[in-house]
Amino acid sequence: RKAAAGLVIENLSLDYGSFRALDGVRLEAKPGELVVLLGANGAGKSSIFLATSGIHPAAGGSIRFGGRELVGMKPSQIVGQGLVLCPEGRKLFPQMSVLQNLNLGAYVHRGDRAGNERRLAEVMALFPILQEKQHQPAGSLSGGQQQMVAIGRALMGRPQALLLDEPSLGLAPLVVKQVFEVIQRINRAGTTVMLAEQNAYAALKIADRAYVIESGRIVMEGDPQSLLKNDEVRRAYIGA
Ligand code: ATP
Repeated sequence: RKAAAGLVIENLSLDYGSFRALDGVRLEAKPGELVVLLGANGAGKSSIFLATSGIHPAAGGSIRFGGRELVGMKPSQIVGQGLVLCPEGRKLFPQMSVLQNLNLGAYVHRGDRAGNERRLAEVMALFPILQEKQHQPAGSLSGGQQQMVAIGRALMGRPQALLLDEPSLGLAPLVVKQVFEVIQRINRAGTTVMLAEQNAYAALKIADRAYVIESGRIVMEGDPQSLLKNDEVRRAYIGA
């Protein structure tokens, strides 16, 4: 497997029509880091991920991954570079089987059947429940299991860096804990992770570094311990 690659975003702006959703965003995930992005609803977390994965074009700025410029690349090319998004709301195909959903993540590697089989075995080892339910429609699984499918599908893209957009959304606390444990395992196995979360406390507990975004701008950056102690962060995102 290739080594983890780092992501460097500089002066990123993004527009929805005449509305500027991101303005001068700078953030970085060094190779192998687990970086958390905190922000309220509508702050711009998903927009950063959409621009990075090529789904919504940046209006300006630079997004470099492993030294390559991603701005201007198509989404499939970006996956081919080893940067994969696990989108907010999971975006599974509910009528298709778990296995079919997982295989969709391997689309850019469709020429490499043996490699995809190996990857699938790894994903099944990480999520044994998906092996059991592989022939069931993805929509019949519990919320937590569907999130596992979404993460598994992203892993089938063979990421060196994984962007996770609110993977804990709508899940019960015990399931949230499992999802965060899995994210930590994926990161420790050598994948750079950028995690957007509303669940600030749990996210900061596993982060190497964190950023806070408000109204399309990065307003704070630091190590998780100091953010956990910061009064503003506690008031806005932890409720203490
Ligand atoms: P959430 O957790 O709600 O997804 P977020 O931090 O990910 O929040 P974004 O989805 O990036 O925020 O949205 C940033 C801003 O852009 C918000 O003000 C949102 O209303 C706006 N926005 C997002 N998508 C569109 C769109 N397709 N058209 C117009 N405005 C949009």
